[in-house]
Amino acid sequence: MPGVTDRVVIVTGAGGGLGREYALLLAREGAQVVVNDLGGARDGSGSGHSMADAVVEEIKAAGGTAVANYDSVATVEGAQSLIQTALDSFGAVHGVVNNAGILRDTSFGKMTPEAFEAVQRVHLFGSFNVTHAAWGHFREQGFGRIVMITSTSGLYGNFGQANYGAAKLGLVGMMNTLAIEGRKYDIKVNAVAPIAATRMTADIASAEFLEKLPPAQVAPIVGYLVSEDNQDSGMTFVVGGGAVHRVQLFANKPVLFSAVPTLDEVRENWSRITDMSDAQPGVNPAG
Ligand code: NAD
Repeated sequence: MPGVTDRVVIVTGAGGGLGREYALLLAREGAQVVVNDLGGARDGSGSGHSMADAVVEEIKAAGGTAVANYDSVATVEGAQSLIQTALDSFGAVHGVVNNAGILRDTSFGKMTPEAFEAVQRVHLFGSFNVTHAAWGHFREQGFGRIVMITSTSGLYGNFGQANYGAAKLGLVGMMNTLAIEGRKYDIKVNAVAPIAATRMTADIASAEFLEKLPPAQVAPIVGYLVSEDNQDSGMTFVVGGGAVHRVQLFANKPVLFSAVPTLDEVRENWSRITDMSDAQPGVNPAG
C-alpha cells in the first residue's frame, strides 16, 4: 500500500483542532509530518510555540516522525520558511494541507476592511503562499498532493461570515485551476469542508450537537486525499459527523435567445432560466 508512508506532509495550523487530527493520523500512517502553527488565538491575535510543540511531542511519543514550525502562513516569507523546514528536516515535500485559519465574524454592515482583509490574509493568501512555495518542488519531482480546507460557509453562505466565506470559496476557485495546471505533473488538488467540534465552532452550536462531531472523523478523508492512492483532483467534499458528501456545481440547459433579449423577454423566461430540474455537472464553456 503506497498510502503516505515516508511521504513528507505539511499541515498548516496543526497545533490544535482539526489540523492536529490530520497530523496525528498522517504520522500514524507513516508520514513525516511538519506541524505548522502560529500558536495564536481564534481571531489570529498572539503567537507562541506551545501548540505546535505539544502536537510534535504527541506524535513522537506514539513513535511517529514530526517537526514543529511556528511561521505564519499569512506572509510569503513565512510560507517559504515553512517549506524550508520540510526540506531541512526531511529532504522533500510531497503534500500540503492548507488548514490554518482564523475567524473575524460580524454582520456585513459592521465588517471593517481590516476584518475582511485579515481573514483573506490567513485563509486565501496563506494557502496561496504555502502552495506556491511547494509548487516548484512538486513539479520537479512529478508528484504533489494538496488539500484546501474550505467551508460550507463559502459553499452555501453563513450569517456573519462574508469575509470567511469569500476566502473559503476563493480556495475552491484556486483549486479548480491548480487541478488543471497540476495534471501533467501528478499534482492532485482537492478541497475538504469539515464540520467538527473545535474552538472555532465551540460557541455556534449546542454541546449536545457538537458531541456528535469529533474532529478525528474528518482526518481519514484528508489523509486519503494527500496519499499516493488518491488519483482524483479538483473535487470538493463536505466531511463531518461520520458522513462524507461530494459537492459539485451544476448548470441547467441554457435558455437561448436569437437576439439580445428585452427586459420583457427576460422576465417572461425567468422561470426557465432559474429552473434546475434538468441540471448537469457544469463545465467551463471557455475551457
Ligand atoms: P482552530 O482554530 O483550532 O485551528 C486553526 C489553527 O490555525 C489554529 O491552531 C491556529 O493557531 C492556526 N493559525 C491561525 N493563523 C495562522 C497563521 N497565520 N499561520 C499558521 N497557523 C495559523 O480551528 P479548526 O476548526 O480546527 O479549523 C481548522 C480549519 O478548518 C480552518 O481553516 C477552518 O476555517 C476550517 N473549518 C473548520 C470547521 C469546523 O467545523 N471546525 C468548519 C469549516 C472549516
